[in-house]
Amino acid sequence: MKIIIHGGFFSESGTNQETKIAKQEALSAIVSQSYAYLNTHTALETVVYAVSLLEDNPLFNAGLGSQIQSDGQLRLSASLMDGKSLKFSGVINIQNIKNPIQVSEKLLAYDDRVLSGEGALNFATEQGFGFFNPIIPQRQQEYEQKLAQSSRLGTVGCVALDVDGNLAAATSTGGKGFEIPCRVSDSATVAGNFANDHAGISCTGVGEDIVSAALAAKIVTRVTDGFTLKHACDKSFEELKTVDGFAGVIGITASGEVYHTDSHAYMVWAAFDGSLQVFN
Ligand code: ASP
Repeated sequence: MKIIIHGGFFSESGTNQETKIAKQEALSAIVSQSYAYLNTHTALETVVYAVSLLEDNPLFNAGLGSQIQSDGQLRLSASLMDGKSLKFSGVINIQNIKNPIQVSEKLLAYDDRVLSGEGALNFATEQGFGFFNPIIPQRQQEYEQKLAQSSRLGTVGCVALDVDGNLAAATSTGGKGFEIPCRVSDSATVAGNFANDHAGISCTGVGEDIVSAALAAKIVTRVTDGFTLKHACDKSFEELKTVDGFAGVIGITASGEVYHTDSHAYMVWAAFDGSLQVFN
């Protein structure tokens, strides 16, 4: 059993020591709690559990505390991939929902598995998800002060390997912040979140760079074709460098290799496989 999570890039929500410690503590607590959950649940159930906890924590740019788009509206995207069934599901730019990853989980059982905007909200409402406004005062203030000119990235994600050897990946985001309304993030695409029976990957960073590189799907394909996870990630990040791409990834393979890397300083992460490791 293995689990790794990320909370996007550190630049999100300020870069002071206090924020760093708060993120280390939050990621350590969530990864430990999720590892305990993995003891009695599948990888698929566990990645939804872990990402829900991350969405509920306003320190991260997903669910509660997400960034606001340039029209003042908050739109969330999330996706889930089951490495066992090879099914991918997700929601793109959904509004007024607390946990978009849980809507993605519901969609996994349907023929139409990726929904956007109003359609996603209608589906969630039919499924019994209540109205929830995830805008917190800090993000509203940032929006009003138009502070988003600087790059502020802080998506969340989780990859887990369960006791039966199954892998799953989940990713959730509030987007880049101040983007053109309805811009599509990588997080609800196979570039930002992908898993099969060889590996699972969750990405963070500039969605356009991640999509151009088909990053998560490419790394998983390389592992499927025989690369180690480290080699697959390092080669993909070398290629990303040639276009000055901005990204971070976490991953696990079926053989239990756990790896994370980033193109810029730095992605925050935590992993648990019997002992806790956290970014420093
Ligand atoms: N990848 C996300 C996006 O471009 C942002 C992030 O990772 O923080 O929407």
